Amino acid sequence: HQHAVPIRFVAAVAFAAEKHRHQRRKDAEASPYINHPVALAQTLADLGGVTDLDVLCAAVLHDTLEDTETTVAELTQHFGPDIAAIVQEVTDDKTLSKAERKQLQIEHAGHASRQAKLVKLADKICNVQDILDAPPANWDSARRIEYLHWSKAVVDRVRGVNPALESTFDQLLERGLLL
Ligand code: NDP
Ligand code: ZN
Repeated sequence: HQHAVPIRFVAAVAFAAEKHRHQRRKDAEASPYINHPVALAQTLADLGGVTDLDVLCAAVLHDTLEDTETTVAELTQHFGPDIAAIVQEVTDDKTLSKAERKQLQIEHAGHASRQAKLVKLADKICNVQDILDAPPANWDSARRIEYLHWSKAVVDRVRGVNPALESTFDQLLERGLLL
């Protein structure tokens, strides 16, 4: 198939690449950070059949507020209030402890918008995939398994938005828990 690639989506990829340019993932190879937001968009489009441009843009931008100096005003200015709102919905409050943030993700996931739930689902799929293929370098198996269980607790609260993505997650989780 041929798809016209909307300029706004390309702009979101370029914006995220610039914002994450000095960051790396936690895997042994310290992969470029931008691979992760791009993987979310690919997961949503290819596995989830998602064509909603706001969701795809929010996916590539999803870690900019949490992990870079990017502000909501900046996202609103470049991409409009709808995309900025989705990114805000999937952003943890970094003034809280890690344990509190993990607990709040579980509590808040069920109340998120449908669009934010799709981004959350893709984020958990991509991170669980990373736990299987390219886990954080210093994590033992207990820590990886703890992460898988937490991811499932979040995903269990967003079910109903995209059966294909939900079953992708379930299959990955099953593989992960067999290890
Ligand atoms: P982190 O939240 O620190 O790390 C996980 C996050 O790192 C992912 O959600 C992902 O977030 C990002 N990430 C970057 N690279 C990778 C990669 N290669 N694979 C997977 N994720 C990657 O860790 P925890 O989930 O462990 O959270 C801390 C909690 O863990 C604390 O609440 C504490 O209770 C517990 N803990 C457990 C320990 C143990 O040994 N069991 C030790 C220390 C803490 P993103 O998508 O945002 O980039
Ligand atoms: Zn992420």
